[in-house]
Amino acid sequence: SMQAWVIGNWKQNPATNHDVNALLDDLLTAVNTEEQVVKNSCRLMVAPSCIHLAAVSARLKDTSVLCAAQDISAHSANTGAYTGDCSAQQVADAGATWTILGHSERRQYHQETHESLLQKLTHALTQNLGVVFCIGETQAQYDDKQTLAVIDTQLSVVKDLLAQQPELAASLSERLIIAYEPVWAIGTGKVPTVAEVSAMHRHIKQTVTGFAESLEAMTVLYGGSVNADNADSFAADPMIDGALVGGASLKADSFLMIANAF
Ligand code: 13P
Repeated sequence: SMQAWVIGNWKQNPATNHDVNALLDDLLTAVNTEEQVVKNSCRLMVAPSCIHLAAVSARLKDTSVLCAAQDISAHSANTGAYTGDCSAQQVADAGATWTILGHSERRQYHQETHESLLQKLTHALTQNLGVVFCIGETQAQYDDKQTLAVIDTQLSVVKDLLAQQPELAASLSERLIIAYEPVWAIGTGKVPTVAEVSAMHRHIKQTVTGFAESLEAMTVLYGGSVNADNADSFAADPMIDGALVGGASLKADSFLMIANAF
């Protein structure tokens, strides 16, 4: 099967530089110790907040752990009068090689739209950043059986990107990862069944393959209350290529246990 990915989304954590360095100390020690050797098949990435991006990527530079931003500006790929934003160029210059985009917390608290996400995706790829593109339905949408419609609408950003830049198709599955994160599973301890996740991942892979045949190889991760206890069950399913981890990525031991499950 294809390479697994385990990605830690640190969100607005940790609180201090001191705590960021302590987490990195633990992470890098664990990555290098024999008890917790990460299988070569699994790639690791962490996404610190923008303020910690440069320091974290400097420490990860010569390690196997990659560094991602959590978001980038929709307005410009490089510079401009956009107070509070960080551009794709700026996060790349700070050492990030990837960015998360479309996380449900950005969609919810920052009103991200189809258009702004299409802009962000374009800017990220222009600056050679890989993209972890998050999609997922809310509890109300799940209860209303709207999940497939919501997923298809969110995925149509990728379709529109390819309509604008068809030449991207050939290499897009190496630079784009889809993360399926049901909003109701994020930070709640509630998880869908492995069968539900597996069926959704199959649907996502089929849908993007419909956009371009080369996207058959798309990596699709599950996110939402993944922890050291449930990671094995997700890892056992061939449709689930890894995990996007929030809370459990803030402790090196649980993050590495999840990584070792994949
Ligand atoms: P939790 O693992 O804390 O549920 O968060 C998942 C998530 O949102 C990762 O992006």
